Amino acid sequence: MKDEIPKILIVGGGLAGMFLAANLVKAGRRVVLFSDPFSLGASDVAAGLVNPITGRQYVLTWRAKEFLNHLEAFLSDARFRALQKYYHVRPVFRPFPDIFSSNEWTSKTSSEEFNGITQAEFSPWKPELIRNPFGGMVHQKSGWMDIPGFLSELKKILLTTGLFELKNSRLPYDAIHPESKFIQIEGEQLPYQHLVFCEGIQGRVNPWFRLQILPLKGQILTVQTQGDAERILSSGIFMIPLGPNQYRLGSTYERAFTEEGPDEKGKAELLQEAARWWLPKFDEVLNHTAGLRPTTPDRMPLIGHHQTLPGLWIFNGLGAKGVLQGPGLARLLSEAILNETPEILWPETNIYRAKAVDKGGNL
Ligand SMILES: Cc1cc2nc3c(=O)[nH]c(=O)nc-3n(C[C@H](O)[C@H](O)[C@H](O)COP(=O)(O)OP(=O)(O)OC[C@H]3O[C@@H](n4cnc5c(N)ncnc54)[C@H](O)[C@@H]3O)c2cc1C
Repeated sequence: MKDEIPKILIVGGGLAGMFLAANLVKAGRRVVLFSDPFSLGASDVAAGLVNPITGRQYVLTWRAKEFLNHLEAFLSDARFRALQKYYHVRPVFRPFPDIFSSNEWTSKTSSEEFNGITQAEFSPWKPELIRNPFGGMVHQKSGWMDIPGFLSELKKILLTTGLFELKNSRLPYDAIHPESKFIQIEGEQLPYQHLVFCEGIQGRVNPWFRLQILPLKGQILTVQTQGDAERILSSGIFMIPLGPNQYRLGSTYERAFTEEGPDEKGKAELLQEAARWWLPKFDEVLNHTAGLRPTTPDRMPLIGHHQTLPGLWIFNGLGAKGVLQGPGLARLLSEAILNETPEILWPETNIYRAKAVDKGGNL
């Protein structure tokens, strides 16, 4: 591969970079991906939950059905079928907090768009484990992904194609020469046709795309407790069943923080929040991690091409929904790159929309 022109460079090997690489390699393109082994990304710590319903307002998330179809299509592709073992299809159970929510959510979900996605249960489910006197909603089409396992195996699959080169190193900005479309590394000039930044939160200081990427800290626990619930539980926070008596508990949403790592306050918040409805006691905290979600002021992703530098792209802002949105957005972006048609990208994710552009930054 050394003698050939590396056609497409990707900076960052989290969900964004790897879903994009998979699409480009699938289309027969050569990809060189730089992944910094010394800085943890959101994908290294995320819980991987996919839940088509969000928020207190109980709404379907943006383009949920479309994104679910893309996730399913990605996992059913013959080339990537081995990755299915990292995605665990599981219903989500969301207890009704009170009788009013029971009425409100039931009437909301009677509309057609919720067909096949939600179902109301009016009697308590597993009341010996979960406080849910009014029952709750069951969400289908949900599940969770073991993201580190998934990404590691995806890298292996792509490496077998001969089209994918993985550089386990950081690509510094001063090595990139976008006016002449080459990078300078290890004393060599590598020309490229396209370069895509998939840097997660580190994209905050990207000198070519001055966009508002806001860190949203999250903390996650792995806990030991008594009692087996087959469903993912969700009420304010979530509990994902991992195995006998073991659950993943997450996540906090912290806009203001001084430390990036896990802290006692986050741990206490998660345990207290879960104890509002999970009745058995927590015997032990087996693991505690933290990471930064790459979010935007309007919570929409950032996908686009530079206004004046040809071949320079960005894929960021996946926020708290990298698993759900990653496959569909990567597919669309790969089409835009392959056909050099940035205009096919959706207006909602346009990087030059008012809410995305960094105040005072120049593009
Ligand atoms: C606590 C927590 C819980 C979460 N829970 C969920 C969840 O349940 N479900 C869900 O869908 N999402 C969840 N998320 C969000 C999810 O993790 C993100 O949406 C997704 O991982 C973002 O992927 P990304 O590739 O854009 O960024 P990242 O995963 O951060 O990847 C960017 C990568 O780029 C690398 N990089 C940056 N600059 C360079 C460079 N110059 N050279 C080489 N490499 C570089 C970084 O090292 C990093 O590895 C959670 C996130 C957190 C923090």
